[in-house]
Amino acid sequence: MNFENTLSFAQQADQNDVLRSFRDEFYIPVHNGQDTMYFTGNSLGLQPKATATALQTELEDWKNLGVEGHFQGKNPWFHYHKFLTDNAAKVVGALPLEVVVMNQLTSNLHFLFVSFYRPTAQRYKIIMEAGAFPSDMYLVESQVKFHGYQPSEAIIELQAREGEHTLRHEDIIQAIEDNKDSVALVFFSGVQYYTGQVFNIEQITKKAHEVGAVAGFDLAHAAGNIDLQLHDWQVDFAAWCSYKYLNSGPGSVGGVFVHEKHARNNDLPRFAGWWGHNENERFKMLKGFDAEPGAAGWQLSNAPVLSMAVHKVSLDIFARAGMSQLVAKGKQLNAYLNFVIDEAMVNNTDLELNIITPPAPERGCQISVLTGEKGKALFDYLTLHGVIADWRNPNVIRMAPVPLYNSFEDIFRFGQILQSFKA
Ligand SMILES: *Cc1c(COP(=O)(O)O)cnc(C)c1O
Repeated sequence: MNFENTLSFAQQADQNDVLRSFRDEFYIPVHNGQDTMYFTGNSLGLQPKATATALQTELEDWKNLGVEGHFQGKNPWFHYHKFLTDNAAKVVGALPLEVVVMNQLTSNLHFLFVSFYRPTAQRYKIIMEAGAFPSDMYLVESQVKFHGYQPSEAIIELQAREGEHTLRHEDIIQAIEDNKDSVALVFFSGVQYYTGQVFNIEQITKKAHEVGAVAGFDLAHAAGNIDLQLHDWQVDFAAWCSYKYLNSGPGSVGGVFVHEKHARNNDLPRFAGWWGHNENERFKMLKGFDAEPGAAGWQLSNAPVLSMAVHKVSLDIFARAGMSQLVAKGKQLNAYLNFVIDEAMVNNTDLELNIITPPAPERGCQISVLTGEKGKALFDYLTLHGVIADWRNPNVIRMAPVPLYNSFEDIFRFGQILQSFKA
């Protein structure tokens, strides 16, 4: 597409957009009587209009049926997690057997580490990106300590080269090679939360396996954003949250992937609970844990139905829109945003911006912009004019137009505001 920095171009692009009707399925926050330019779907996705009704259905069943809702409810709670599995699997490119919705992201990663971070005297290191999301740093630090290691000896954090903002893929592969005898686990994000860099999950997994390590991923910023083929890529395990691109509300339930090759491996240690136990025997209340095959066998507790009901609404929308169409539109929105930022910089020399997100294919919806000294003033100016973006210290603005509800017009309007900033 040849972009133009005009309202008519943006409106025409919206007209041609096959996904345009999905915007009407969401509540868009309003600022001064106009829709905001909401570019923080990577942080907290917007609320689908169908959410309240779905919640109401469960509340009604609880009100009218009490405990009987487990089997007599409209969506019997006993089986609730299963109603989400197929559509969650489609989002990450997995078999239904490989996916379950449960708990929350950081908890899930801890449980997965119990099974998949199995250090030995020889092989005990974890390779990860430097500057990972803090929860991931604390996760890894506490896990290596739990196994009796010092973080400084067991964690290898890969830094970008001097003067560069993002890791080079070849440096990741080289680091795995350099530690081939001592690395137990390669653990990366799918999309780096700060820079928006997309890591090559397939190649990282392949290299990890080549040296005899396990490959696991935190897909918080990847699920619902980029094309994922976790099954085909042979990823061992992954987890994600549902409240960013997946629009399921603050702190909502997370998702877990465990590859089919581990589905029936009962030798893997795990922290078990009754919801992961063989479903047919669950209510016999007997001793001796017998895991359900697949990711479902990692469940501990019965499903938090109210959170799951919200997540289910969103997963149904994703299934209707289709990941490949969403990814295609996300790329276009991202490219248009990049174009509009470039144009604004040409037209307004007060802007000192530097896009640190690498070019496609190493990016998804998000663009991270390093701002100059006037960065915070610029951010405040944008906020005042109805742009909802995200400020990250020391001086980065993150923006992610998302394909379900952002429009080309949102981006055009944003560009006009950016262009009008005076330092
Ligand atoms: C958002 C995010 C989290 C948040 O973890 P919760 O357990 O859901 O609070 C963790 N890791 C990454 C990479 C994230 O982007």
